[in-house]
Amino acid sequence: MRKKIVAGNWKCNTTVKEGVELAKSVNELVLSQGAKDVVVVLGTPFTHLTSVADAVDATRVNVASQNCAAEAKGAFTGEVSVSMVKSTGATYVILGHSERREYYHETSETLNKKLALTLEQELTPIYCCGEALSIREAGTQNQFVKQQLDETIFLLPAEQLLKIVIAYEPIWAIGTGVTASTQQAQDMLAFIRGLIASKYSSEVAEEISILYGGSCSPANANELFSQPDIDGGLIGGASLKAADFLSIINAY
Ligand code: PEP
Repeated sequence: MRKKIVAGNWKCNTTVKEGVELAKSVNELVLSQGAKDVVVVLGTPFTHLTSVADAVDATRVNVASQNCAAEAKGAFTGEVSVSMVKSTGATYVILGHSERREYYHETSETLNKKLALTLEQELTPIYCCGEALSIREAGTQNQFVKQQLDETIFLLPAEQLLKIVIAYEPIWAIGTGVTASTQQAQDMLAFIRGLIASKYSSEVAEEISILYGGSCSPANANELFSQPDIDGGLIGGASLKAADFLSIINAY
């Protein structure tokens, strides 16, 4: 069965102290008021992972890194491997975020290595895809997203694909305050689910959680999450305020 998931992406924000305070506030709110059937994930900077994992109740709040190294270990100065991420208590890894693809030139080839290492360590990848504004304006967003998936997660066998959470995040909606319309988000997620059904099977498609991300907020989450193919959200800005994040968790 598809899980409902609300995952925060803190990006490059908060000191460790601020992050732990934020995580504690989210944890408290989730334990006292959070919808029980929603999986909650906090995507923190690498430096915060251990402290945040220690500060939350792991049975209700999961921790994610926002990236990982494309190598298992070795002479890769400044990199953080998946086994290091795992050793902090984190259980998810956000991969292929558009900011990493755009600013750090992450390619499908690199992402395939990261996906393989993440799955090998039994952490859950949250695999991001999504088109730029020019592609949306040209009307070729479906082909573009299909290609992103064909070159990466669709190369995996069904049993591995089933361990992945997909997040569709149109780049033009990330951090801009411009949310995709509910219909645009639903249409793309239905398209992705249809691709999975035709490439794998409808059973596989029905098991995979697909999230929407891009200026999701307490004001629009309810409408987005009411759509048949939207299984939750990847939340940037609004995940930095515990009360807003809770409202999104409870928006179903
Ligand atoms: C994100 O970065 O994944 C994101 C969705 O950001 P925001 O919610 O701020 O648009």
